[in-house]
Amino acid sequence: MLRSPRTTGSLLLTGMGCLLLAAPLTAKPVKHRAVAAPMVLAGAMRIHRSLLTLDTHLDTPEFFHIPGWSIMDRHDATRDFSQVDVPRMKQGHLDGGFWAIYTPQGPLTPTATRAARSAAIMRGIEIREMVAAHPAVFALADKAADAPRIAASGKLVVFLSIENAWPLGDDVTMLDVFYKMGVRISGFAHFRDNQFADSSTDKPMWKGLSPAGKALLAEMNRLGVVADLSHSSDGSLDDALALSKAPIILTHSGCKAVFDHPRNIDDAHLRALAAHGGVIQINTVYLKADVPDPARDAAMKAMREKYPEDRMLSASEQTAMMDERRAIMAAHPVKDGATFALFTENLLHALKIAGADHVGIGADWDGGGGVVGMDDVASLPKVTEALLKAGYSRDDIAKVWSGNVLRVLMAAEAEAAKEVAHPAG
Ligand SMILES: [Zn+2]
Repeated sequence: MLRSPRTTGSLLLTGMGCLLLAAPLTAKPVKHRAVAAPMVLAGAMRIHRSLLTLDTHLDTPEFFHIPGWSIMDRHDATRDFSQVDVPRMKQGHLDGGFWAIYTPQGPLTPTATRAARSAAIMRGIEIREMVAAHPAVFALADKAADAPRIAASGKLVVFLSIENAWPLGDDVTMLDVFYKMGVRISGFAHFRDNQFADSSTDKPMWKGLSPAGKALLAEMNRLGVVADLSHSSDGSLDDALALSKAPIILTHSGCKAVFDHPRNIDDAHLRALAAHGGVIQINTVYLKADVPDPARDAAMKAMREKYPEDRMLSASEQTAMMDERRAIMAAHPVKDGATFALFTENLLHALKIAGADHVGIGADWDGGGGVVGMDDVASLPKVTEALLKAGYSRDDIAKVWSGNVLRVLMAAEAEAAKEVAHPAG
């Protein structure tokens, strides 16, 4: 989820039980809309179709609140700014992934934390309701080994994940509730520091993981939840690498060598992550500096004030807001958005430094992701084609698309099984 205070691109309708819209206000101009398949050569498409493909950070649940919006319908990124739905997953051959319970960081007060907990539980329920409503289309995955089985049955794989553990409050055993809901990956912080960790985009509060964050990490190891250090500070990542008994994941991150931004990590951390057995899932954001556009920022701010973020919008309000947003984007288009070539550069750099056993895909779809030339998941075969062109084998590409993340999840499962057999106390 790309939602920095400095990123004016997000229309963030926060508040508990209220509408959250994931798409960034810096969405790509209409002229860059995805082109219908085929978009890659037949050989690349054949290989892509043969792979198990998982994305580790799907923010699509942010759309589940919108009146009339259905995951079963084909949407258009240029109309409602959405990037993932069943028709486009089928077109791009995305087999599923980790569907995020995202919570924007609010004040660390008991009242706000309690409200965040309720909202996170409700979001988890909504993800499960998607599966329950369409049992022929989706299936919940419990273990890593379920993913290939589910995909082979023709269904889409649904793991849950937590982006920002703030809703757990001061009781890390709450993670067990989310584990039972299907959460198999959990982050610590988001754009601001919280009770568990320093954020990469905030001033250090703890110099890494807090004591509660270390307790949360131990709880993740005990349950078999993979620790996600995307959004957390480098110090938090260092602590997690030192303390975690299972490999670490960065579910949607990038390389500082491509663009020096606090959300991206440097080569030394990439190597340390790989040496610890972990994986970086490459995203499509923080690839280049934003070009400031004060007029667009002002227009978006005015729109946000008109549709306040602390209440649910009606269907007609939602439609009106989308119309206004499209008009703003037409009047103030993003002139030089990041490109697919830049995304590929990010991916190839990570592969060069960390190796093919330690890189995957987490594009931040519906959370600010997408580049010129890859607007939504329908375009994903292009990633496989780019890796083939760069000389990677089918086996390596299979690891990038799911093998590595599933190996990391299996390692977390093994650690949990060990801790059940030999509890610490
Ligand atoms: Zn994020």
